[in-house]
Amino acid sequence: MKIIDSFIKDNDGLLHSTELLLSIIILVFIIGTIANLSDELNEKMLSKEELSSLENIAIATSDYLLNNPGNPEHWERDEGLDNGIVSRNIIPGLAIKKKNIGNGEFYDESGNDEMIMSNAISYNKLMKIKNNYDDLIDRNILNGSFKSSMALYPLNCKIGPIKMGDDLGVNDNVNDNDIATVNRRVQCDFYSSFVVYRFNDLELFGDDYERDEICNHDTNPNLTNHSNDGRSLWLCKNFRVYKKSLEDYNYYLISDESVKYGNFYWILESLNRTNDNKERLNREVIDLNPFFEEDLSNSSNKIYSIHFNVEKDKKEDFRTVLVAIPKNMTNDLIADDELKYDYFNSQNVEFLLKMAYK
Ligand SMILES: [Zn+2]
Repeated sequence: MKIIDSFIKDNDGLLHSTELLLSIIILVFIIGTIANLSDELNEKMLSKEELSSLENIAIATSDYLLNNPGNPEHWERDEGLDNGIVSRNIIPGLAIKKKNIGNGEFYDESGNDEMIMSNAISYNKLMKIKNNYDDLIDRNILNGSFKSSMALYPLNCKIGPIKMGDDLGVNDNVNDNDIATVNRRVQCDFYSSFVVYRFNDLELFGDDYERDEICNHDTNPNLTNHSNDGRSLWLCKNFRVYKKSLEDYNYYLISDESVKYGNFYWILESLNRTNDNKERLNREVIDLNPFFEEDLSNSSNKIYSIHFNVEKDKKEDFRTVLVAIPKNMTNDLIADDELKYDYFNSQNVEFLLKMAYK
């Protein structure tokens, strides 16, 4: 009685009881919401059989994508893909089908038969999928019945991860337990198909390296001889450049930043315009088009000779490639900070496919 009295009479106590009631109402409301929510979650939770069939579909989809070049052949060249117009006939695949082309034979069409490279995926195809994910994957492959996402995590930390598709488990309110995930270790070619010459002889042969190409500096008495002395090594290579290809490609000498740590020099010359002045190689990106454009002003093509002088003790830091990048792609590469040595090598990557029922 005393308590009730105090409730009725005491303004302060009354206030407290109103607060109590309010908090109970709020609590009931919260519990009710949680109960409803967990009901919904329980309904969404997949049975073992449903999850196992989802996993099977995800495994089959990954295996298909990683082992097939896709249909029709060269589907990635379809111009519609650049404008978001995606034909229903395109069934994308990421596998690389390419001719066996030797070092420096960039424009040689006489390679072996095209063959599918095992465990290697095409970065170019992956980018086409990224830009048209809903149509190419969710519609054309998964028939609109699933949500999915794909990601590539390069083991080389200098290359960032690439993610595409639905934001599974984050924005889509899909329970983590209802997502099937497939993980595969593969090689991605990135931009290695743009490499004209990979100057990796020192890497391949190490201390056994001996220059095998004939260098024009050895036979010309007016030029410094390029035979190896005790402290440095010469690496000399010849390649041909067509004037016409300068309309479509940007030529660059791309080096790893490690070249800054050694004493490395280079000379670029055409055989009828020799040059004996070696220049320090300490820039990661060297644009060669101005040189070729000037030198090819009066001829359709020429053989060029590039010579590298490499400090013997630092030869592991000499990592350089000559690349030819299609002009319509160059600005994108620069904007995305991809004009870097690591992007011109195949890299080990973790491929991840996630799938959920819609
Ligand atoms: Zn030489």
